[in-house]
Amino acid sequence: FPTTKEEVLQAVAENDVKFIRTQFTDTMGMIKSWAIPAEDLEGAFENGVMFDGSSIEGFTRIEESDMILMPDPSTFRILPWRPKEGAVARIIGDVYRPNGKPFEGDPRYVLKQAIAKAAEMGYTMNTGPELEFFLFKLDENGQPTTELTDMGGYFDFAPLDKAQDVRRAIDFALEDMGFKLEASHHEVAPSQHEINFRFGDVLSTCDNIVTFKYVVKSIAAHMGYYATFMPKPLYGVNGSGMHSNQSLMMDGKNAFYDASTPDQLSTTAKQYIAGILAHIREFAAITNSTVNSYKRLVPGYEAPIYCTWSASNRSSLIRIPASRGIGTRIELRCPDPACNPYLAFAAMLNAGLDGIKNEMEPPASTDVNIFKLTEEDRAARGIESLPGNLKEAIDLMEASEFVKGVVGDHVFENYIEAKKAQWDDYKAQVHQWEIDTYLSIL
Ligand code: GLN
Ligand code: MG
Ligand code: MG
Ligand code: MG
Repeated sequence: FPTTKEEVLQAVAENDVKFIRTQFTDTMGMIKSWAIPAEDLEGAFENGVMFDGSSIEGFTRIEESDMILMPDPSTFRILPWRPKEGAVARIIGDVYRPNGKPFEGDPRYVLKQAIAKAAEMGYTMNTGPELEFFLFKLDENGQPTTELTDMGGYFDFAPLDKAQDVRRAIDFALEDMGFKLEASHHEVAPSQHEINFRFGDVLSTCDNIVTFKYVVKSIAAHMGYYATFMPKPLYGVNGSGMHSNQSLMMDGKNAFYDASTPDQLSTTAKQYIAGILAHIREFAAITNSTVNSYKRLVPGYEAPIYCTWSASNRSSLIRIPASRGIGTRIELRCPDPACNPYLAFAAMLNAGLDGIKNEMEPPASTDVNIFKLTEEDRAARGIESLPGNLKEAIDLMEASEFVKGVVGDHVFENYIEAKKAQWDDYKAQVHQWEIDTYLSIL
């Protein structure tokens, strides 16, 4: 894939690309995109593309609305599901103010700040996220439903897994766009799937997450289905997570690996774990960003609730996968795919670095099934819970100097305001559960 401006321009000419969709994400993690004609791309690399930021969630007010997107040539990809003649490509960019300063509300900029902080300490971050999603049917008007497309379960194979042709088409499209796939399988719930791609540096991986969701949704739509990354679309079955595997590299070596300790985890790894555990409750509003996210974080569905770590059991918030050496990593299991990945990984990285900087020690690992402990047992072990709903998460975030430092004042204020508005709206609704529970008896 091309990485420089010159290579991109050459690829545009060679592949008959007529339009380029320029992209960034808003504070909530929604892709914002508009197409420019291919002949304008060279100018866009020089001067950027001007757009109006005032109608973008979490960006600017009317009086300071001009923004500039500077395309990042390394993100250029031809969209495989569009025509071959007169092809369409997309490119991700960084947002600047007209005075040439990076826009502090751009989530990609927030992540770049975290990466710079890590670099100052000598680290680069690698991450491999595992995104789960549901494939549902569309109704006769083409609107998404929660109607199942199959009754399959974990690792099930045809003929139960009717949606496998869709998943196959998604896999091919992802490979065309440069993803190296590692696993693609049916998940535990009916109509639920997971596709894993190879880990990489945190910035390109966050770009990949955004691209992944876009590809999955596009291919599903082409084949007459609807793909959703909503964390808990169905009551009574597993929700969709985005387990986040992460490690730090220093001088080309995995800084989490130390062959000389009993568990072969380095002090750095332990401090990183401690940092995440110390701050997770404060930044849960970022990794688990919707009202619906907290319906996933309940007992019985392989999703975490308690702030613990363990080498063995999957009921922990942080699990240490078995591989060691260069593959040594931790897996944070609470994030869900509805989050803004740039902000979420900026928070995770900063929390880990804070643990290292302050030489934090993690609590003892919890190698029992935490869900089987009584409340008293948990209290005795000092085990805290993740926030129980979005309101609790917002309150914890609002009181956190740490999170404010991670995302900056601009994102902090806009994010909290938007999430409070969502919560207030949700709170005032009369839900079906209330009708079912109260109407006939009160
Ligand atoms: N779907 C589960 C979650 O919500 C994870 C299940 C799995 O990957 N084993 O996190
Ligand atoms: Mg997995
Ligand atoms: Mg899974
Ligand atoms: Mg996993």
